[in-house]
Amino acid sequence: MSATIIDGKAFAAKVRGQVAEHVARLKADHGVTPGLAVVLVGEDPASQVYVRSKGKQTVEVGMNSYEHKLSPDTPEAELLALIDQLNNDPAVHGILVQLPLPKHLNEDLVINAINPAKDVDGFHISNVGLLATGQKSMVPCTPLGCLMMLREHLGSLAGNNAVAIGRSNIVGKPMAQLLLRDSCTVTIAHSRTKDLPAVVRAAEIVIAAVGRPEMVPGDWIAPGATVIDVGINRIERDGKNVLVGDCDFASCAEIAGAITPVPGGVGPMTIACLLANTVTAACRANGLAEPEGLTA
Ligand code: NAP
Repeated sequence: MSATIIDGKAFAAKVRGQVAEHVARLKADHGVTPGLAVVLVGEDPASQVYVRSKGKQTVEVGMNSYEHKLSPDTPEAELLALIDQLNNDPAVHGILVQLPLPKHLNEDLVINAINPAKDVDGFHISNVGLLATGQKSMVPCTPLGCLMMLREHLGSLAGNNAVAIGRSNIVGKPMAQLLLRDSCTVTIAHSRTKDLPAVVRAAEIVIAAVGRPEMVPGDWIAPGATVIDVGINRIERDGKNVLVGDCDFASCAEIAGAITPVPGGVGPMTIACLLANTVTAACRANGLAEPEGLTA
């Protein structure tokens, strides 16, 4: 193996430390305690784990955590009324509605009901538009975490050829916008892309966000490229249940200059960036300077 392993776990701990320091200063100097409200509708086991983990880490960095657990058959009007209440609550600086929502709820309608200034997931259509036009916005957590790791590892990203494999609204598209904002030459690949191996081989930065276990082999990777593997796929191997990424780690690590592992790469950065977005939102709401290095 020749690639440097980008340690997302360690980097996430560093980001949480920076958030905690900023929260302590906000409390001491301005009497402001950032607050994050997380809304969970239903009993999806994976979502319950995420929400618990978010609440725990929110409290650990000194912020207030407000959890709202609603039954799976909650009517849309009731959920919208809760969002309205949170939009108007000055103690709440960030609102996150855990996705996916039960089928009877309109996700776009619900997300777009959140005050964009409190939309710490960065999914509100106003934040999507602000990001696309290069204006100050709330940036989706997973691509923000990828960007932070790329900047930390490469310094300036300007002039690099970058490919995002995947065009979802939560990863691929905002990732491409962030790379473009940092002056990369960006390609967005997807299931209809012709000759994907050649597209990936032309890239110095590869973001894999597909959801297909170990789809990207090492011989697609340009020597020395930086590979960020967003994929989280659970598979059976040697009778065990294991997590793997969208890249074949062993063969990619032979060729790449640097690579994120799965687990321990992008995953831990996502919640760290949620906390970073919440402290940023609290600063903006109070007209205070934003923490450096925690936003795009
Ligand atoms: P998604 O909404 O399912 O999007 C997957 C994308 O991959 C689509 O754009 C799809 O293309 C493309 N794709 C599918 N098969 C392909 C192929 N054979 N060749 C090229 N492109 C292909 O997934 P997502 O929500 O972006 O998530 C992607 C992965 O990241 C998943 O494993 C997910 O679990 C993981 N994830 C991790 C985190 C984290 O915190 N680490 C956060 C979010 C997601 P089409 O648009 O043409 O269908």
